[in-house]
Amino acid sequence: MHDVVIVGAGPVGLFLACELGLAGCSVLVVEREPEPRSPWRAYPLGMRGLSAASVEAFHRRGMLHSLLTASGAGDHPGANLDVDEPPAPRGVSHFAGMMLDPAKIDVAALPFRLPSPALEGVMTSLEAVQTVLSERAAELGVEVRRGVMVSGIAQGDGFVVAQAGEDEYAGRWLVGCDGGRSTVRRLAGFDFAGTEPQFTGYVMLATITDAEKLRPGFNLTPTGMYLRTPAEEYVSVLDFDGGAFDRSQPPTRDHLQEVLRRVSGTDVTLRDVHLASSFTDRAKQTTTYRQGRVLLAGDAAHIHSPLGGQGLNLGIGDAMNLGWKLAATVCGYAPDGLLDTYTRERHPIGARVLDWARAQAAVMRPDPYAQAIQGVIRDLIGTRDGTTYVFERTSGTSIRYDLDGEQPLIGRNAPDFRFEDGTRLRDLMRDGRGVVLDFSAGERLRGAATRWEGRIRYAAGPARNDLGCGAVLVRPDGIVAWADDHDPDRAAFERAAGHWFGDPA
Ligand SMILES: Cc1cc2nc3c(=O)[nH]c(=O)nc-3n(C[C@H](O)[C@H](O)[C@H](O)COP(=O)(O)OP(=O)(O)OC[C@H]3O[C@@H](n4cnc5c(N)ncnc54)[C@H](O)[C@@H]3O)c2cc1C
Repeated sequence: MHDVVIVGAGPVGLFLACELGLAGCSVLVVEREPEPRSPWRAYPLGMRGLSAASVEAFHRRGMLHSLLTASGAGDHPGANLDVDEPPAPRGVSHFAGMMLDPAKIDVAALPFRLPSPALEGVMTSLEAVQTVLSERAAELGVEVRRGVMVSGIAQGDGFVVAQAGEDEYAGRWLVGCDGGRSTVRRLAGFDFAGTEPQFTGYVMLATITDAEKLRPGFNLTPTGMYLRTPAEEYVSVLDFDGGAFDRSQPPTRDHLQEVLRRVSGTDVTLRDVHLASSFTDRAKQTTTYRQGRVLLAGDAAHIHSPLGGQGLNLGIGDAMNLGWKLAATVCGYAPDGLLDTYTRERHPIGARVLDWARAQAAVMRPDPYAQAIQGVIRDLIGTRDGTTYVFERTSGTSIRYDLDGEQPLIGRNAPDFRFEDGTRLRDLMRDGRGVVLDFSAGERLRGAATRWEGRIRYAAGPARNDLGCGAVLVRPDGIVAWADDHDPDRAAFERAAGHWFGDPA
């Protein structure tokens, strides 16, 4: 019997496994694919954009360097930490294929930024992410069993069993991280609600006889969109067919050529198609992320089109949010209702991403009304406020959980505070505990914080830039649970600590 059985060793299952392993839980991950390597996960088909919020999650667990190395990413912006002002964002993003100009981001309007190597996103691949996470999972004693196809689930009194053929894997909890076509979601009877597709999308690796006929980058056309990346032979195309294409079969060369010609308005010729697959903008989400002892995270809980590259980031956010809450529940010190805050906090974030994807599909539709809205959006994105808004949405900067407390940092991802001695918040977060940063004169919270020793780490001293705070309580997932001014209220801190970390030890 393991504490937690995770179904699916994709990026979300592995991230969650690392979080649980870090907290001392026994974790078994079962994965149907016998081998981790696949051309669908490697560059260029497996190319994925990680947002600043996801990069920060890797950074906090000491995996940023490995991630950058595995991703082949060079010098990361913000690598020079000996500065007071964070560098301006230079990453580019898009809305429905309309590119942002990073020079137009209003840096002063971005909330609570401090210098950190994790202020920007990274272009990586599923393979790189999974390699880094698999290595960390092994170091933490997580067991990963491959070639196990889960096809049944049984919930008992205080345990859940995942069934695969004749084999059974029992855990006190089971988390389905088994992707968009989740078996766990179906077997456990989760409601999966949402909207049907407007388009079928295709990604392909192909030898194109006359590739110069396709313009590089995102190209919105009167019938859809196509993307030609700098990666040789990688092309993506969206066809507004109402999702009519039969996705049970891989698309043929003739079909892909017909779609690409029609959408691009060229007579381009696909000589060979090496690999191709299809996706849609079907947007659905389970109504809850928990049914008894079964939970869902990542694509198993929500699906939407890849427009704007958000699914992986959403899933990593789920894993960070769920990991410490499930671990506290397993260890027995979780306050009442802690695990239910997983759905309460993450469901609205997922719903926002689904709407972001729907909004993009709506403005790309090949009809005069959608194209009229496209013109308006293009004008708005051309403004400073418009660019800043889209940047905040796509970088994860705008995420704020609805937690108790007036202080504007509460519910947000904590900036990387630095003490005068050089210690940074992220240095204190590697072991996955909560952290209280006490910047107040006289270290006012020292006595109170030690009551939660083992669950909350206490660190005191003057900060290089305290952003107007005297004390900040940071949850293990990096979210600010409580913050106060330069004269922090000890009783308020104790209430917040008890609320998130249970009765003092
Ligand atoms: C073309 C494209 C581009 C994208 N670009 C981006 C991007 O730039 N940024 C971004 O954030 N997101 C992007 N996404 C979305 C992102 O890839 C997914 O959201 C992410 O991979 C989901 O991770 P996951 O771990 O939840 O699921 P998956 O990666 O699907 O992993 C699920 C795992 O579960 C296993 N499994 C399934 N069923 C079973 C079973 N019954 N038993 C055992 N194991 C099982 C599978 O083999 C798999 O390994 C893109 C998606 C596509 C299609």
